[in-house]
Amino acid sequence: MTTNKNGAYAGKVAFITGGANGIGRATAIAFARLGARVVVADVFEDGNHETVRLIEAEGGQALAVRCDVTRAEEVKVALEKTVEVFGRLDFAFNNAGIEPKKPAPTADYDEEEWDRIFDINLRGVFVCMKHEIPLILKQGGGAIVNTSSGAGVIGIKGSPAYTAAKHGVIGLTKAAALDYAAQNIRINAVCPGYIETPMMERFTGGTPEGRAKVIAEEPVGRMGKPEEIAAAVLWLCSDGAAFMIGHAMVVDGGQTIQ
Ligand code: NAP
Repeated sequence: MTTNKNGAYAGKVAFITGGANGIGRATAIAFARLGARVVVADVFEDGNHETVRLIEAEGGQALAVRCDVTRAEEVKVALEKTVEVFGRLDFAFNNAGIEPKKPAPTADYDEEEWDRIFDINLRGVFVCMKHEIPLILKQGGGAIVNTSSGAGVIGIKGSPAYTAAKHGVIGLTKAAALDYAAQNIRINAVCPGYIETPMMERFTGGTPEGRAKVIAEEPVGRMGKPEEIAAAVLWLCSDGAAFMIGHAMVVDGGQTIQ
């Protein structure tokens, strides 16, 4: 595919955390195809550069910046770089996240693992919004999408930290959405089901049995594709979603409605 320089997001700038891989990469490419200039912000620097290369190969414009969402200073610098290079910020996709290392019931859950998951998956989203919102306000508005999960709307046995952090992303999204609705920043969340990404590869162990177990939980009989989450994120950022505020959009093949 090639970039449509007159696409729906021409002249706009999107900042994407976790953009070096999986859902973030697919969303970065999708934004660029519709004309946005994209900042790929992730701890995985080779992956950042690869996403940029993929975008540039299609004629799009993108910038790779190292950004650990647990470090407020790195987030601030990455966003300053965004404005320095591309002049503005219209959209943010706060998507960086990690999966639990191993399941354990709540009473046995490791405290350090709890903190690690909360630090990246929930506090990271807060820190990013804290530094994105003033920049988006500067040009009169925009849209933010935060990545929650199916685990944001149902409980996952053996996964108290991930479940709580992803529920927290939805609560944070609602509170922030109310704070800025009148100032023309729309803040929503996306809740993916099982999606074929490097994270899911680790989660299933990459084995046919591991994959089959996950697919068995999906009423559609397959995992989702990162592009299917990207499509939802792009729509939430579009004018078509102008009346969507603080919504948690579940895109999960029916996993959480059973
Ligand atoms: P992924 O393939 O692992 O990609 C996530 C990216 O985030 C990786 O490049 C990772 O780098 C990066 N990252 C990790 N910690 C970071 C930090 N502190 N600061 C900045 N970047 C960081 O994962 P994915 O499947 O695309 O998941 C993206 C988001 O969707 C996550 O929030 C995840 O919880 C959520 N989600 C995924 C699924 C699914 O089935 N895949 C389902 C529901 C929700 P490293 O690889 O170097 O760690």
